[in-house]
Amino acid sequence: ADPDELAARISVCRACERLVAWREQVATQKRAAFADQPYWGRPVPALGPADAPVLVVGLAPAAHGANRTGRNFTGDRSGDWLYAALHRGGFATQAGSTHAGDGLELVGARIVAPVRCAPPQNKPTTAEKATCAPWLDRDLAISEPHLRSIMCLGSIGWDATVAAVRHAGWQVPRPKPRFGHGARATLVTPTGRQVDLVGCYHVSQQNTFTGRLTEAMLDEVVASL
Ligand code: SF4
Repeated sequence: ADPDELAARISVCRACERLVAWREQVATQKRAAFADQPYWGRPVPALGPADAPVLVVGLAPAAHGANRTGRNFTGDRSGDWLYAALHRGGFATQAGSTHAGDGLELVGARIVAPVRCAPPQNKPTTAEKATCAPWLDRDLAISEPHLRSIMCLGSIGWDATVAAVRHAGWQVPRPKPRFGHGARATLVTPTGRQVDLVGCYHVSQQNTFTGRLTEAMLDEVVASL
């Protein structure tokens, strides 16, 4: 599939009634600090070059972050942490991003959300995760020929990735590799190439504010990609 065509198709998906209502409600009501900005308010497609050797799999757009900017992990505290680390690791041209036109670009990394629409309380339902899974399958197919490693931010991204690669006929170790910070497993693509699956605690404020995830821990994972 063509990445631009896929992004265009994803951006008009309305398959999850609850998430469509929430993403549009947030985009209409806005947060006071962003009252003068347009909100994207749609599914957020992959960000970064299609031929990137590193794929970063998050969770879902933040209501006032990517649901506002239309670009994964930009415009909120989680993104500040992630982009700072990606910049230190040479994967981003800037250490942060506040709005869609600020020039941030990913270098050798592509970021996808396994659930493409902002969910209430950042918690998608099991059904919503399943409904969005085919989009990850398609993005994985675009990235696959170029991949060296897949960094999963949290267990939802890890599980979605394992399901997607299995679906695509990759070899996954048995028993299924367990998510953890710094967890690693070797996946094998249908063409016999090895790709590292790498776990990392999610860059949510729940983890970064509490010290569960430190900059050093994040840098260590990014340096291993
Ligand atoms: Fe479509 Fe995924 Fe958004 Fe559901 S979460 S409406 S499947 S893009």
